[in-house]
Amino acid sequence: MKIFITGANRGLGLALAKTALERGHEVFAGARSLDPEKLSQLKDLQNRFGAKLIPVEIDVSDESAVIRAFQQVKRHTERLDAVINNAGILMGRERSIADTDLDECMDTMNVNAFGPLRVIKHFLPLLKKGDNPTVINVSSDAGSISSAYGGDYAYGLSKAALNMLTAKAKKELKASGIRVFSVHPGWMRTDMGGPSAEIEPEIPAAGICKMIEFSDFPEQDLILVDYEGKPMDI
Ligand code: NDP
Repeated sequence: MKIFITGANRGLGLALAKTALERGHEVFAGARSLDPEKLSQLKDLQNRFGAKLIPVEIDVSDESAVIRAFQQVKRHTERLDAVINNAGILMGRERSIADTDLDECMDTMNVNAFGPLRVIKHFLPLLKKGDNPTVINVSSDAGSISSAYGGDYAYGLSKAALNMLTAKAKKELKASGIRVFSVHPGWMRTDMGGPSAEIEPEIPAAGICKMIEFSDFPEQDLILVDYEGKPMDI
């Protein structure tokens, strides 16, 4: 399969790139900068997997950068079988409503919710030609309205909006045969999750790869699932 992943230079995105390559897929690895210093871990993968890994410069907060990334990918392929909207930021953690910084909220929304919207919008022509194409929006239980907790406004609102994007895009793109899911990857040991987190990112990376590979998994009407494909409340 041909898979495009945003934020693939570290954390879950890097684990997704590595896992997909090890499972025989071709990976277009999105990174904000193609500066070799920032891409050292992706370069290691490139040494192992050669032309099956293609780095792509993309800042999901900038629509013109997303269009340039689409054009770069299109030079290599006429189709994508999966797009994984993984890039995300976390700001203003545990702040009360009184201390919430609206600029941080807008920046977070711009990356976590509007970033995937920009990517889906511009990568649709390649997805429409994909083999059982799937969009995975990497979300979070922090975006679940039914289990909302106090604080964390910027991140929580952005992931709730991302889940709405999943629900709406799922309805619209069904006619084109494109599956769309939000996935909560669990609390992972990454720069965002910190060293005390529960799991290594390779675990949800394997689960997400399986979702993409198995065409009848999971049920079409699910919006938010965990990395094993089990339904979660939104
Ligand atoms: P990291 O902070 O480790 O990595 C984030 C990645 O996103 C980096 O590659 C970063 O690039 C990229 N990124 C940030 N902003 C942009 C942008 N504007 N354009 C393109 N790329 C960008 O996060 P994780 O790997 O932990 O998280 C991955 C996803 O999983 C996120 O969507 C996150 O919300 C979600 N998640 C994470 C959890 C956890 O426990 N870690 C729990 C639940 C959900 P750069 O290196 O250039 O900054």
